[in-house]
Amino acid sequence: MGNYFAEPFRIKMVEPIKLTSRQERERLLMEAGYNLFRLKAEDVYLDLLTDSGTGAMSDYQWAGIMQGDESYAGCKNFYHLNEVIKTIFGFQHFVPTHQGRAAEHVLFSVLVKPGDAVPSNMHFDTTRANIEARGGKAVDLVIDQAYDPQAPLPFKGNIDLDKLENFIEHWGADKIPLPMLTITNNSGGGQPVSMENVSGMSAILKRHKIPFFIDACRHAENAYFIKQRAPGYGDKTPLQIAQETFSYADGCTMSAKKDGLANIGGFLAMNDGALFEKVCQRLILVEGYPTYGGLAGRDLEAVARGLMEALDEGYLAYRIGQARYLGECLLEAGVPILEPIGGHAVYLDARRFLPHLPQSQFPAQALSLELYLEGGVRAVEIGGVMFARKDEKGETVFPSLELVRLAIPRRVYTQSHLDYVVETVTRVYERRAQIRGVTITREPPALRHFTARFAWA
Ligand SMILES: *Cc1c(COP(=O)(O)O)cnc(C)c1O
Repeated sequence: MGNYFAEPFRIKMVEPIKLTSRQERERLLMEAGYNLFRLKAEDVYLDLLTDSGTGAMSDYQWAGIMQGDESYAGCKNFYHLNEVIKTIFGFQHFVPTHQGRAAEHVLFSVLVKPGDAVPSNMHFDTTRANIEARGGKAVDLVIDQAYDPQAPLPFKGNIDLDKLENFIEHWGADKIPLPMLTITNNSGGGQPVSMENVSGMSAILKRHKIPFFIDACRHAENAYFIKQRAPGYGDKTPLQIAQETFSYADGCTMSAKKDGLANIGGFLAMNDGALFEKVCQRLILVEGYPTYGGLAGRDLEAVARGLMEALDEGYLAYRIGQARYLGECLLEAGVPILEPIGGHAVYLDARRFLPHLPQSQFPAQALSLELYLEGGVRAVEIGGVMFARKDEKGETVFPSLELVRLAIPRRVYTQSHLDYVVETVTRVYERRAQIRGVTITREPPALRHFTARFAWA
């Protein structure tokens, strides 16, 4: 058993969960068309589908909910949030949004034109989709080792700065309205980005006069990795590291459902005053008046309080420690996972887990279904179902990584819940040779992982 960093909180409210029988789960899964998104959450015992908006708020946040000022314009919670964002991120202007993708939508609809390109270490699926919806091209320039599930790098989320230079050379700076840097790199396994990489990227962009935006969803977890892994940062607080990180950037998008420790919310922040004016015009059209932006006053307060709590060192030690604990226990049981272990989740490497299944039989999807059948644990497929594409000749191109993500909701599950997950995964691993693949029986034209139906192959 790995080391477990005990919860830095005690529990004063509980939400019952129930374990169904294997027989019931077989029926429920069939009724859901073998798509875990289509299950009722009530029929899931431990829900590791996502860490987005699934966290538990603190008593201090709940107290803030009662102090929501629901005035249409200029509510006091907006000013509190403004103060907090100034403290952590340091940007001159911000607007609240109802979640992260709304911030992306507003930003890209103001900055991105058809034919533009937006590079990133690795785009999250909503940033990619929002760029493409504007006729732009979303390009991943992460370091090559990010695609090797076992390369033991401390900052495996870094953008490749040589690739970025060449990319700007090739496209021309006038076709690149902005880049995004995703910290930590969610699609690449929750891997952190180093401060050197952030400052290096900033220098390149300054030279080309391109504004630098950060996708900040898990910036607090990234700060904690920098503290642990980068020489010279061990004595700095996560807040100081976050402040330095954002001092290199011109703005950020944020989902408060991640390191805002809230169940809903987000924001878009920037220094450029002219851009801010355009953003406000657009925001009023699609989200709301700039002092509430699609949220109630009480939500703004929960986010303001959550943003500071997410930078608490004890909280981060526990948070990152949970992922490490789960990952180390699985490694000890011989289960193949993506390494190093990331910040918010553990990723099972389905190709090594089920080597007898070709990617055309969606091994990660099959594995995620088996976890539910075995123990009522819901994970998410991040592989061929989510990312396979057809090339010009109509041939299917599978992604290089075939993963099952076990995302850990913030402050929700305990060590014994994680032990239960380890037991469930281990039992599935012991009978891996008998596991069949799946086929798709019905799929929509886009984002098929949410609604497609499957059958056992
Ligand atoms: C969740 C997420 C988003 C989108 O945020 P939502 O609140 O889900 O809309 C964007 N980028 C990253 C890296 C994320 O993890």
